[in-house]
Amino acid sequence: MKRVNQSLFNRCHHTLQQSLCRVGQKAFTQQQQHRMLRVAARPSELVGGTPLLDMTPFLKSHTDSSNSCKLYGKMESLGPCSSVKDRLGKSMIDEAEKQGLITPGKTVLVEPTSGNTGIALAFIARERGYRCILTMPETMSLERRMMLMAMGCEVVLTPKETAVPGALAKAHELLEGLNGDGYMLQQFENPANPKVHRETTGPEIWNDTDGTIDILISGVGTGGTVTGISQFIKGCPEFNLPPLKPDLKTIAVEPQEQMLLTEAKGGEKRGEQGPHKIQGMGAGLVPNVIDLDLVDEIVAVHSDDAMATTRDLWMAGIPAGVSSGAIINASLQVCQRPENANTSKIAVCIIPSFGERYFTHPMFESIKEDAANLTKQPLPEPYDNTEFGFKTARG
Ligand code: PMP
Repeated sequence: MKRVNQSLFNRCHHTLQQSLCRVGQKAFTQQQQHRMLRVAARPSELVGGTPLLDMTPFLKSHTDSSNSCKLYGKMESLGPCSSVKDRLGKSMIDEAEKQGLITPGKTVLVEPTSGNTGIALAFIARERGYRCILTMPETMSLERRMMLMAMGCEVVLTPKETAVPGALAKAHELLEGLNGDGYMLQQFENPANPKVHRETTGPEIWNDTDGTIDILISGVGTGGTVTGISQFIKGCPEFNLPPLKPDLKTIAVEPQEQMLLTEAKGGEKRGEQGPHKIQGMGAGLVPNVIDLDLVDEIVAVHSDDAMATTRDLWMAGIPAGVSSGAIINASLQVCQRPENANTSKIAVCIIPSFGERYFTHPMFESIKEDAANLTKQPLPEPYDNTEFGFKTARG
């Protein structure tokens, strides 16, 4: 026993000496030293590694069940540019660089996107030194345009009548004009989209729940998130992934006003179909990126219910976007079901984006009006400002 301890000591001592020595000789790169200190060397290193929040108290206070299963939120809203798309921007650019498809300083990234993907691309393009042009319908909010332009992106507006297809046509035209120096990453088609969730979001959820996750609830835009996480947990022979929990129940959420996934899975549409107000979800097509075989069920949530739940989230101290409201609304329904309610099951839902980006959304209209109508209140009399080193307007 003593000898074992001694040899362990020698080994540790030796290793320690070696590392000290190597630090002395500056054998560590600056990046490695940053790693040891847990300091990100560049903005893109801040992507991923988001925490889980226990939302069971929220679940209990917003449902009838006092004894419920557990609900955890994966806080993608806490990424460096505040959405789940931060992972995607980094992954698509990393992969294209790895394959030699794009070169910093030379390639111009052109993408038809006004959403969080555009912001994530702008963010990584800035770090890596790419010129970036984003095309979007003229209806996109001023804040959105400003966010992108403040990070050095060029924004090209297209007529509102032609919506997203118009922005896509413009992007293709710009690409042609760039004579081979332009590149479109195409999030709806790009395999780097599910890949990043298979390689980062999925493992993070698995590790942080110590493999106890039973139910995954995710909204669908491109379907990259729900597909990648499910591939990692349910297993995927194509990528040499063993089944960790093949009976994971994967639930995808879509707007009730646009039930295309439900229809694709052979279900019935409910109510009036048309435009919806859940930004980031319900892209109006069944994306190529989504693997519907991995999805066990689709829950449709109406925009009005999504907005009401988003408001509840804010009032619980969780400022999240409207799609988070839709996903939580679906999660509350799922967790209340008899097969889940009084069990020790663990449900994990995705909170895709931070709420401040949605102040121009109709759900904030009344707060905006109330805020604008606030008037200043009189101060207690007498009020003397001289202790701050200057006279008040009243002298
Ligand atoms: N961004 C936002 C704001 C979303 O709400 C969602 C849906 N959860 C997504 C992105 C969807 O991600 P994906 O494109 O991976 O389906």
